[in-house]
Amino acid sequence: MGSIAVPKSHIVCIPYPAQGHINPMLKLAKLLHFKGFYITFVNTEFNHKRLLRSRGPKALDGAERFRFDTIPDGLPPIDQDVTQSIPALCDSSTKNMEGPFRDLLNKLNDDVTSGFPPVTHILSDGVMSFTLDVAEEMNLPEVLFWTTSACGLLGYMTYRRLIERGVTPFKDEKSFGDGTLDTQVEFIPRLKNMRLRDFPSFLRTTDPNDIMLNFCTRESQRASRGSAVILNTYEELERDVLDAIRLVLPRVYTLGSLSMLCQEILGKQYLSSLQSNLWKEDPGCLDWLKNKEPNSVVYVNFGSITVMTDQQLIEFAWGLANSKKPFLWVIRPDLVNGDSAVLPEEFLSEIKERGMLASWCPQEQVLSHPSIGGFLTHSGWNSTLESICVGVPMLCWPFFAEQTTNCHYSCVEWGIGMEIDNDVKREGVEKLIRELMEGEEGNAMKDKSLEWMMKARIATKKGGSSLVNLDKLVDEVLIQKQ
Ligand code: UDP
Repeated sequence: MGSIAVPKSHIVCIPYPAQGHINPMLKLAKLLHFKGFYITFVNTEFNHKRLLRSRGPKALDGAERFRFDTIPDGLPPIDQDVTQSIPALCDSSTKNMEGPFRDLLNKLNDDVTSGFPPVTHILSDGVMSFTLDVAEEMNLPEVLFWTTSACGLLGYMTYRRLIERGVTPFKDEKSFGDGTLDTQVEFIPRLKNMRLRDFPSFLRTTDPNDIMLNFCTRESQRASRGSAVILNTYEELERDVLDAIRLVLPRVYTLGSLSMLCQEILGKQYLSSLQSNLWKEDPGCLDWLKNKEPNSVVYVNFGSITVMTDQQLIEFAWGLANSKKPFLWVIRPDLVNGDSAVLPEEFLSEIKERGMLASWCPQEQVLSHPSIGGFLTHSGWNSTLESICVGVPMLCWPFFAEQTTNCHYSCVEWGIGMEIDNDVKREGVEKLIRELMEGEEGNAMKDKSLEWMMKARIATKKGGSSLVNLDKLVDEVLIQKQ
């Protein structure tokens, strides 16, 4: 499939500065680059340095019509590969990034040496909506990319009504343990069978000034100010929710999965050439999988932000060991609260060749390996969609944000997941792993996963909804009309 010639349009892409946002934005940017656009991809200075450390000095060299640039995140500098505090980043992006972003756009427009035309469009993460103010000031159209699921976005869009109805902030913390969170929310019928606990987790607060509650309420309300909204999901998966979102945001383009679109349009090799890891990959995971039986390995990864206590780590460890199933467990260096993860000697000698531990892996390649039979995940949207696209059923242990909503949809609506109790215990983990890998329910989930995988494939093939939507986005929103 050839790229198309477009009049000189220059898109500035700016992701929210976290792994689960940079990855899909980079994929989208590469697709648009392929379509003929000039792209400037903006990372924070902190992440730019990390990407150089993990990917090597040439990682951000760019290409013809594609370049990287940076702005500061406004937080005190840290010189370590650690996950930044999400509330601090959200607070700082709202207060401190607008000025540097405006300066960057002016710099790009004044630069006559690069051969890039002046900026014509902004493609901003949905939760970086300070960019809208700059775009409006400069009379530039802005497209917002929400990297959440559609159900997650609709969950956030409902926050305002939940506040107006006095549901959140809660009167006191007892509400989080007395069954209040099990209340069904009926007034958004398209969000099916949702209890309060299935909404994005930031509503669980008693503080009217809670940073995350206010941030997500505000950002989701501002989505209507964009020229269009992009989602990394596909129509067939979230049709009802998308219908509800389109009542408020008429121009929503679903392009999911972006990974599959990249494979379809850029070719299979894109996976290794298009990476944006903030951690250095542990070599050896794919080799280790080579000798394992098809569908036999449990893959465990809690993404880039989740943290847990030492005790929770130990419970997962013994649950995995006692299940007697082979597993590949990725333990990020900063996964455990306030300390580095320490696993008992006994556990390490028990698992020997049956278990592989790594610190970071090429997740999409791992998930698509035929040996992987199940995924124990924190239900981050990228991880969930990556699992759906390769037909791998999940055990879900959501940590925060819209992961609770993704978990609900995976388990209840899509039939491809089972939830692990938040108060994780080794017996529960063992039992669910056995069920996932060899039980009847596990088998039914596997069948369902394969169905969703096929639908995902169709969406990105010729005539499929996501592929068609990419062309529509280009024609209707991004091509510079002259
Ligand atoms: N990821 C990866 N290797 C790892 C862990 C995560 O490549 O060892 C990637 C994963 O494929 C996904 C992203 O990091 O694209 C994590 O995003 P997600 O939305 O699942 O979770 P978050 O990190 O935002 O909580």
